[in-house]
Amino acid sequence: MEHFDLVCIGGGSGGVATANRAASHGARVALVESGRLGGTCVNVGCVPKKIMWTAAQMAESMEDAAGYGFTVPPHEFSWQKLVDARDAYVRNLNAAYERYLLGNGVTLVRGRATLADAHTVVVDHAHLGAKNVLVATGGHPRLPDIPGAHLGITSDGFFALQAQPRRVAVVGAGYIAVEVAGVLHALGSEVTLCLRRDHFLHGFDAMLRDALMRHMEGSGVAVQRHCRPARLEQAAGGLQLHDEAGGVHGPFDAVLWAIGRSPSTAGLGLEAAGVALRQDGVIPVDEWQATSVPGIFAVGDVIGHHELTPVAIAAGRRLADRLFGGQTGRKLDYENVPTVIFSHPPIGTVGLAEGDAVARFGADARVYETAFTPMVHGLSGRAMKMHMKLVVAGPEERVVGCHAIGPGADEMLQGFAVAVKMGASKAQFDDTVAIHPTAAEEMVTLKTARPARAAA
Ligand code: FAD
Ligand code: NDP
Repeated sequence: MEHFDLVCIGGGSGGVATANRAASHGARVALVESGRLGGTCVNVGCVPKKIMWTAAQMAESMEDAAGYGFTVPPHEFSWQKLVDARDAYVRNLNAAYERYLLGNGVTLVRGRATLADAHTVVVDHAHLGAKNVLVATGGHPRLPDIPGAHLGITSDGFFALQAQPRRVAVVGAGYIAVEVAGVLHALGSEVTLCLRRDHFLHGFDAMLRDALMRHMEGSGVAVQRHCRPARLEQAAGGLQLHDEAGGVHGPFDAVLWAIGRSPSTAGLGLEAAGVALRQDGVIPVDEWQATSVPGIFAVGDVIGHHELTPVAIAAGRRLADRLFGGQTGRKLDYENVPTVIFSHPPIGTVGLAEGDAVARFGADARVYETAFTPMVHGLSGRAMKMHMKLVVAGPEERVVGCHAIGPGADEMLQGFAVAVKMGASKAQFDDTVAIHPTAAEEMVTLKTARPARAAA
């Protein structure tokens, strides 16, 4: 049996980053992957999603170009061409990931791993001895437990579509639902978004949710509220979605479930190794990414919160630095993690939503906000407002939340996230010279504050 300092189970964002960093510190590392290297993000997540989003942005830009004097000739869009180019790009990344791992001296083992005990990983008939084990097996999309659910697709199925569905229902109210609905709508599908409550993006600042809802409905996405799916049926004209209140929606060419993801921890042998699991399969870890068994760690989507690629990477790299790089005390701080929703228009956000700031700081929480027509749409004629908000707390007005929706919000937030993470105050934002003419400059010129309002 070959022995390693670290065996990583899963070659997605978390596993690959941890393996590479551990190997760079001189550790003997093996990484086991049962599917395609790069995991969810590279194959059926961030990367192909961003390519589809970019295509959708281009479709919108072509419409906008008329306002700038262009005669936009009639154009055709080939879903198949886009999908072929996207998939070729992803295959290149798969190969690059492999080269990078091998270049760092990581032993790559192809197959499905299980744990025989806390220090033995089994892949087919091979046994790998492991001083430390990292579980980074990610997650998979959930299906609703209703008749006909299998007639629908998930985000995995979305990326497998070889033709563009004309009429689509997207069921869900989170990141994936609003992103996929936005992409399909901008590329010309008729989209119905089915929410089980009256809104989407729960947990995000109300300004972001309200602005996106207004824009999506205003641009023609049909939003069905209080639509709790009861069954999905194949009828003569297409798929029909029946809700619990007796409503019938459709017919649709595709119904996409975007109702959350579950951790991929079943059948891994975690119980045999003594690792405590939550009932829903999530692996609870402490602040050091440690499971209930010494020497077994977990990062990424399996730990059940902050399901984001850079979070999996950051947690894994810090763990490797601590275990093999002599950097005691190194761990990921899960506060103030910035995130972008690639909706149309995009959302960038970091820190506390207004309502959460009231819950934490009470009357000490205040808000600066603005809404304006971004310059690009001054000529395009597209009815789209950009919204920005800073949430501040205490007499020193520390910025505890920074939120934006509108063109460029996705690229804008990274820099502001640095300032929020460093504990910058409103006065320090204002003391930073604006960059003109940009939308971002509004974030350093916000004028009047109002008391923050509790969440509705
Ligand atoms: P994964 O990347 O899922 O990797 C787990 C790997 O483990 C997989 O390759 C799997 O095959 C392998 N595996 C599982 N079981 C075994 C086993 N027993 N043996 C061997 N291998 C095994 N995040 C962002 O930050 N930005 C985005 O824009 C974004 N967009 C997304 C869009 C979609 C549609 C989805 C679904 C997700 C998106 N995410 C995004 C989330 C991001 O993809 C995940 O948070 C991230 O991939 C989690 O990384 P991970 O290492 O935990 O798991
Ligand atoms: P989310 O957890 O974001 O949202 C799931 C949504 O599904 C909830 O809003 C919930 O609605 C709704 N829902 C749950 N069960 C049902 C049901 N039975 N019927 C109808 N609706 C239901 O999950 P996603 O699948 O969208 O994405 C998974 C994770 O992947 C995200 O949380 C995010 O961390 C990551 N991701 C990140 C992206 C990015 O960084 N841009 C992009 C895509 C994914 P309700 O709120 O009303 O309860």
